[in-house]
Amino acid sequence: MDLNIVLLGPPGSGKGTQTERLAAEFGFTKISTGDLLREAVRNGTDLGTKAKGYMDAGKLVPDALVIGLIKEKLKGSKGGVILDGFPRSLEQAKALDEVLKVGLAVDLKVDQEALIKRLTERRSCRKCNAVYHLEFNPPRKEGVCDKCGGELYQRSDDTEKVVRERFATYTERTAPLTEFYRRKGVLRSVDGMGSIDDVYKRIVAAIKAA
Ligand code: ADP
Ligand code: ADP
Ligand code: ZN
Repeated sequence: MDLNIVLLGPPGSGKGTQTERLAAEFGFTKISTGDLLREAVRNGTDLGTKAKGYMDAGKLVPDALVIGLIKEKLKGSKGGVILDGFPRSLEQAKALDEVLKVGLAVDLKVDQEALIKRLTERRSCRKCNAVYHLEFNPPRKEGVCDKCGGELYQRSDDTEKVVRERFATYTERTAPLTEFYRRKGVLRSVDGMGSIDDVYKRIVAAIKAA
């Protein structure tokens, strides 16, 4: 599918989970800035060293760094792309506009209480970045990734204190993007409550209508 999609929505709304499924089933190229930045931190690259402090504090990594990263990734991509966690600021949305035609912006709507429950019990795979939830989407074997056998861990920014800061960052910097995409006529608000399957079906319907 040639459509380019951005997934908006606060931390914990299901962007990573849905992106993974959509990429697998429609063949989209998946780009997750959170995963790419964590990888850079793990590898101790120049980008990782610069990004770490912002991520630990629940702040946005500076636009210039993230825009550079995305441009690099888009260069090599073919077919439709699905962006998880980018753009997150108006500057990023404008920069993206110059290099990619976004055909659909999905804004996932989830209650605050549900978000906190999702984030504090999230587990992620060290190896393939697959996302699980202790209650809502548990792995078959505790602590082990179903897909690759990798070790599951809790992200250091999924603690209550940093989560609160990430929500504030989202409200201030990212929520206003809905207006940007509404004006372009590509915004679709999607109910992100309910099961992972239910939400997936709603997004697929939005894709078919785009
Ligand atoms: P985001 O990328 O938006 O931060 P994730 O996809 O990582 O969100 O999901 C956050 C947590 O919530 C994960 O533990 C995931 O398994 C879980 N989750 C995702 N979608 C749902 C859903 N519809 N219902 C319940 N839990 C969900
Ligand atoms: P979540 O989906 O749970 O909010 P992500 O994995 O998408 O978390 O992002 C984790 C952190 O990485 C963010 O809190 C932020 O510090 C950084 N980050 C990810 N994407 C961006 C971006 N587009 N711009 C700036 N910082 C980003
Ligand atoms: Zn894995």
